[in-house]
Amino acid sequence: MSMTDLDPAIIEACAFYDAHYAGADPIFLEPGKKLMLGDRAHPRRCRFCRLQEPAVTFKDEAHALPAAFGNTGLFSRYECDACNHLFGEGIENQLGNWSKPMRTLGRIKGRSGVPTIKKPGPDKCWRVEFDGSGFQLSHYEDEPFFEIDEAAKQIRFQLHRDTYTPVAALKGLVKIGLTLIPEVEVANFRETYDWIRDPDHRRNFVSEFPVFRTFVPGPMRNDLIVLMLMRRRASVDNVPYAFFTMAYGNEVLQVFLPSIIQDACIDGRPLTLPAFPNPGSRDAARYGRPRVKVEHLTGREPVRGETVPAVFGFDEMRMSGGDSPPT
Ligand SMILES: [Zn+2]
Repeated sequence: MSMTDLDPAIIEACAFYDAHYAGADPIFLEPGKKLMLGDRAHPRRCRFCRLQEPAVTFKDEAHALPAAFGNTGLFSRYECDACNHLFGEGIENQLGNWSKPMRTLGRIKGRSGVPTIKKPGPDKCWRVEFDGSGFQLSHYEDEPFFEIDEAAKQIRFQLHRDTYTPVAALKGLVKIGLTLIPEVEVANFRETYDWIRDPDHRRNFVSEFPVFRTFVPGPMRNDLIVLMLMRRRASVDNVPYAFFTMAYGNEVLQVFLPSIIQDACIDGRPLTLPAFPNPGSRDAARYGRPRVKVEHLTGREPVRGETVPAVFGFDEMRMSGGDSPPT
């Protein structure tokens, strides 16, 4: 791809990020790759609750990002067992509920495979599941839930999202970034660590920290996760201090890591930032350009019954459970 094929907005965003931020080397997670963050020395200290051995233990494998995203290889040595359980049952579970429709559509394999999405409730109505080769959409005739556009070769439907509390899902994302940052940066995020550990999600912390969600259309690997951490350049004081990006399947999430100390310089200033640029699929003419959505995960009350619109393109359709249509 040459520069001239790129969207001018992408070129502009590249220039913006290059001028304002510097990045650490990206982490590429693939099946079979194991990486352990933090050093081996004892006594170990937990960077989340600040306690050290023997007051806390480090027996469990602490995932740097939840296994639901397909991570089987990135762990840290600085998350104690108590914090690991607290996050697993709380904010990581909330993040899991929020991200489940995207993970199903991206064919992301968690501990028990690609998540299946069903209509909630006891009735057998519809389900979307991935069987290893393709998606199976099952529904019962009295309640069709998808629309087929044969001319455009598309299926459109609404996926149900499990109940989640937006700010808790945001904490789950921020926790990933706070796990990735180098030890020398930890002091800049003291209040942020306390905030993500606080099970009271009604507490006010930062008023506005958008999450950019970029959807990259077209076929993408479902077994590669790319994590990238970016920090503001020393000469810059008009943008947030730090953020990370996490690319998995067809999605890239860009999450800011609020720092009370380092972000004081942008307090009260209106911010307009472009999303971190993504060049998109190699065949953008066929699949379309990446689409950016800004997620405001600031709601403090549980959200029930939300739906997420989804579109599948298809090359062929196979009918099952009845007579095949003539071809
Ligand atoms: Zn801890």
